[in-house]
Amino acid sequence: MPDSDTIDVGIDLGTTNSAIAVVVDGDVVVVKNNEGWDTTPSAVWLTKSNTIQVGRRARDFVVADPDNAAAEFKQEMGLADARRTFARSGQEMTPPQLSAEVLKSLRRDFAHRLGAPPPFAVITVPAAFTLNQNQATVEAAVLAGFEPGCPLVQEPTAAAFAYGFQESADRGYWLVFDFGGGTFDAAIVNKREGDLRVLNHAGDSFLGGKLIDWAIVEHVLAPTVSHEFGLTDFRRDNPRWRGVFGKLKQAAEDTKIELSRSTEAELNVELRLPDGGTEWFTQTLRRDELDSIAEPFYVRAINLCRSALREASLDASDIDRLLLVGGVTLSPGLRERLADPRTGMGIPLDTSLDPSTVVARGAAIFASTIRRPSTVATTVAAPGEFLVDLAYEPSVTTTTPTVGGRLRTSVPVDWAGYSVRLTNPDGHPPFDSGQVRLTANGAFATDIDIDQHATSRFRLDLTDGAGNRQPLSPDSFSITHRDVEFGGVRLAHSLGIQLADRGFAPVLRKGETLPARAREVFHTSGTLQRDNADALIRIPIVQGERPRGDRNREVGVLEIRPRDVRIDLQAGTEVEVTFEVDASSLVTVVADVPLVQAQFEAEINLDEVRAPSVQTLQDQLAEVDRRLDRLRQAGAAGGSREKLDRLDDESALDTVRDQVGAARVDRGAAAAAEERLRDLQADLDDIEETVQVPALARQLEDLLAEAEETVEVAGDASDRRELADLRRRADAAITSGQLAAVRTAIERTSSFVIELERRRPDWPVQLFFALEAMVPRSPAADGLLSEGRRAISAQDVTALTAVNQRLVRLLPKEAQDKVIGLRSAS
Ligand code: ADP
Ligand code: MG
Repeated sequence: MPDSDTIDVGIDLGTTNSAIAVVVDGDVVVVKNNEGWDTTPSAVWLTKSNTIQVGRRARDFVVADPDNAAAEFKQEMGLADARRTFARSGQEMTPPQLSAEVLKSLRRDFAHRLGAPPPFAVITVPAAFTLNQNQATVEAAVLAGFEPGCPLVQEPTAAAFAYGFQESADRGYWLVFDFGGGTFDAAIVNKREGDLRVLNHAGDSFLGGKLIDWAIVEHVLAPTVSHEFGLTDFRRDNPRWRGVFGKLKQAAEDTKIELSRSTEAELNVELRLPDGGTEWFTQTLRRDELDSIAEPFYVRAINLCRSALREASLDASDIDRLLLVGGVTLSPGLRERLADPRTGMGIPLDTSLDPSTVVARGAAIFASTIRRPSTVATTVAAPGEFLVDLAYEPSVTTTTPTVGGRLRTSVPVDWAGYSVRLTNPDGHPPFDSGQVRLTANGAFATDIDIDQHATSRFRLDLTDGAGNRQPLSPDSFSITHRDVEFGGVRLAHSLGIQLADRGFAPVLRKGETLPARAREVFHTSGTLQRDNADALIRIPIVQGERPRGDRNREVGVLEIRPRDVRIDLQAGTEVEVTFEVDASSLVTVVADVPLVQAQFEAEINLDEVRAPSVQTLQDQLAEVDRRLDRLRQAGAAGGSREKLDRLDDESALDTVRDQVGAARVDRGAAAAAEERLRDLQADLDDIEETVQVPALARQLEDLLAEAEETVEVAGDASDRRELADLRRRADAAITSGQLAAVRTAIERTSSFVIELERRRPDWPVQLFFALEAMVPRSPAADGLLSEGRRAISAQDVTALTAVNQRLVRLLPKEAQDKVIGLRSAS
């Protein structure tokens, strides 16, 4: 381990529980904590003497001493204004600082068992984590004492690697289903000829067991407590009841867990009342009651899996096994539902690996395939020293990999005559490359032989032109042969720009292997005039999957100001935008305007992400409520009905209402509420569009009827062929129920109708009367209109066409665009 070239260590930094694992001699081991457990609760307690405690004791104090303890802070990662205050000392800690304490505790356990703390680790993040959340995780790693450059990997991907590592079957599709305390993650994984690849990810960073606990509290326990003890102000967002709600939540969780092995459980909590006395509160809960409380959350998770499958063009029947991960998957109600093809997935369940450590194990396995970030590449050679930058894959499925390298010294050297030699005396058989000559610029590449299913270690020797051995750094490396190869880290959310019409144009797509880079050309929508000091081209950089840019998260902005350019930029100026994301999710965006030969770098600002205020959330909730009401009253049918029903099955509005309510006392809930509201708004956009489909379909039918009539009277054979083709496309569009498809069909059909009209001899006259009705009245318009009427009486087609052209220019911009067919015709 100490002299390993690879990272080898994996950490699952969970909302509820964390774990650390390591690969030693090809085997993966979970490193136990000081108390002998595989997992450490992600809780922090500040003791009376102001020392920090992490783990089981700290978790117990979250209920016993809530003012001096913190848990579930992972839900606040990446929020600039999130802080936990510890009452006794007055100390404040940010979510990355709190996470760093958990990481430090794991590092200490590791050092205790293996002799020294690990310099690097692969750390797991939920699949749905956004860039700012990833960045906060990287920050926590550095605060905990890890060297910069710790890679991140998505939790379900890590779990899949752990299964892939032990699995002997050579091919198959799996679905990882990870339901934890705070987050839900899913991944579709394909294994083929030793290649393990994540096909699609899905998740919700705010869907977890915690929500089930709170739903028990808010919908079952709190109403009873309030009634039984006559407490009228007994609400979660009332700070005076914070301690009692904390206790109830813990009791709800304990009872939920108990109901995984019993069909009925009794919940007992000692409550402190306002008069200072204490009372016991007792309630019995049955498993079927729990299942119905938890149902909307299970349904949401299952719906996310279904859409992830759809996105990957797969069906549940294509999936061989459903791999269960995370504490909530221990509940029998969820397992039954998952196994059911109608209400769940109908995929055989696999629980062969311990669901609480499988993510850390997989992260360690992945870590053993990643080279430690090298210090050599950034080191400057000392006089007389020979450095080599090596290039090789540390984990391969071939037994004859290629190794390359380039030598460096402090002064220029003529490398002709130098050679390197790669040897492995312990190989089966021993390996010796012989002398490999360097190129004139000091580079080499050669194939080597490695042993199957083992780690082979090689020595590297340098010989100079005079035949003398020279010391080289590094002078060894190792490569491991494995049956499985792991596809790399994937981009969790698409990244792109928001267009002028608020549409989202993704440039780097979700699922892209990192590091990734892509370039796309856009055109400016407005003019940038240099004499207008306030003018500005502002291009928001957004992340997400929703079709409307402003429904996604803005992560930065590209700005071009008049002073940055030498000439005015006309509308339609070309802008080339390049996006780059590295393996630890660092993003750069650069815009290039070839016309002025200037480059602009976007300001990516992940440090300023905040959860909205309670007031903003309430306003948004009210808006969503209104929109939903309108849609319900409009009596949606067909596709839109189904989508509305799905929102009801997930109790989407109730869940977000609970979260908005809790936002006052819980920043994590505020962030969750914001994300849910964005989802709901995007769902409603979609439903509203679907609702428009039937009306547009009727419009399309009318247009087709008009076209048929005209073709009948004046069409030729080729018109009839085109009409038949249009009819076919229109029928397909209507059957598909897709708004965009119907719109396209309408556009095609109306240009066909215009085309037919235009061939009629009286076309310019028709156009003139149409324009007369559209053009805003003005002296210029009146003049043109009289000119047009004179041309009509004189039957002067040329003059009339010229008048029509000038009339079009008097139309407002949007109307001109609408009559674009007219404009090209006149
Ligand atoms: P995380 O990934 O968030 O750290 P875990 O995978 O450890 O979380 O899962 C924690 C969640 O699982 C909590 O909500 C906890 O209440 C729940 N949980 C743990 N054990 C059980 C069980 N036996 N039955 C049902 N839920 C459980
Ligand atoms: Mg987890």
